[in-house]
Amino acid sequence: MTAKILILPGDGIGPEIMEQAERVLEALRARHGFDARWSHALIGGAAVDASGEPLPAATLEAARQADAVLLAAVGGPKYDGLPRERRPERGLLGIRKALGLFANLRPAILYPELASASSLKPELVENLDLLIVRELTGGIYFGQPRGIEIRDGERVGVNTEVYSESEIERIARSAFEAARLRGKRLCSVDKENVLEASVLWREVVVRVSKDYPDVQLSHLLVDNAAMQLVRAPKQFDVIVTSNLFGDILSDIAAQLTGSIGMLPSASLNERGQGLYEPIHGSAPDLAGLGVANPLAMILSVAMMLRYSLKRGDLADRVESAVKGALAAGLRTRDIARPGEKVVGTREMGEAVAGLL
Ligand code: NAD
Repeated sequence: MTAKILILPGDGIGPEIMEQAERVLEALRARHGFDARWSHALIGGAAVDASGEPLPAATLEAARQADAVLLAAVGGPKYDGLPRERRPERGLLGIRKALGLFANLRPAILYPELASASSLKPELVENLDLLIVRELTGGIYFGQPRGIEIRDGERVGVNTEVYSESEIERIARSAFEAARLRGKRLCSVDKENVLEASVLWREVVVRVSKDYPDVQLSHLLVDNAAMQLVRAPKQFDVIVTSNLFGDILSDIAAQLTGSIGMLPSASLNERGQGLYEPIHGSAPDLAGLGVANPLAMILSVAMMLRYSLKRGDLADRVESAVKGALAAGLRTRDIARPGEKVVGTREMGEAVAGLL
């Protein structure tokens, strides 16, 4: 079946890095029998400029019809003064909500060539390859009751960590499935010694694990997990955790790699449909200069191939091509060490596509 992809270049460096992602898609189509068609739509500031809204109905409808959505980034100083509902980020939040994207997958990969970019010693992080699966639509960020109220004559702030069995089960299944596509080891992170929500979390994860006998399951308390991530991050394959813990742990993991321009992400719903995007923003400081690193965007294409389009073979090819470009010494400005030759966005994209 022909895969249907929706492309949302967005704002800032978005169109420049997306052009390179499309170059990669074209190379896969021309040389590796990739059966797909893609179309473009507006989101974020670009959509505000064209229609006054950050998420036009036509974009949302096209996203619903697609097997996968590739998004670059939204936002920029031009839009900072707009009312909240018309801000570019509302487009992003709106599409995540409308598609029911509850599973956020964030890999942290450090290629040996870039090991010196990490704040940790190179030997601790060289060849790091871990994946954090974060629950994205539940937990304390959404739980009721919430608010600021008066109790015993003073103000108290209240938030509630709440997870249903079905919410835990579906994120656990996503994580086990992801582990199956990788090293087959899953570590579930919770705070089971203090929180009832975590007691249930652990119980349900253990129950779901019976359906995945080929995946080795372990558990860590979140405080220990944070410590282990900076002590010996290479011990992990896949980590699954709640919204709050995942928010924090995934940023620690990203920082281990030292380069925001290299990290892709995926957000999936129950149908396996996904939104794929770099973790970085629209980098308005670099927009139009042709210097942004397109690799996070290109690696988002690889994730899309693996998780939504079930073409792990093509994902491997794209990831190998990225490794090849780095091994050949190509560096955009953000990942170059002093004295290294720097290439632009387009040159990096062409090199990766050329290696496919
Ligand atoms: P940012 O990620 O855009 O930039 C942070 C720093 O990283 C900047 O110095 C930038 O030049 C650099 N950088 C980012 N991507 C890069 C790349 N591919 N290659 C080289 N360098 C890169 O974050 P910010 O500056 O906090 O935000 C800028 C705008 O992006 C804001 O409007 C913000 O709201 C938006 N934003 C969007 C998303 C998203 O679309 N998912 C995420 C974060 C921020």
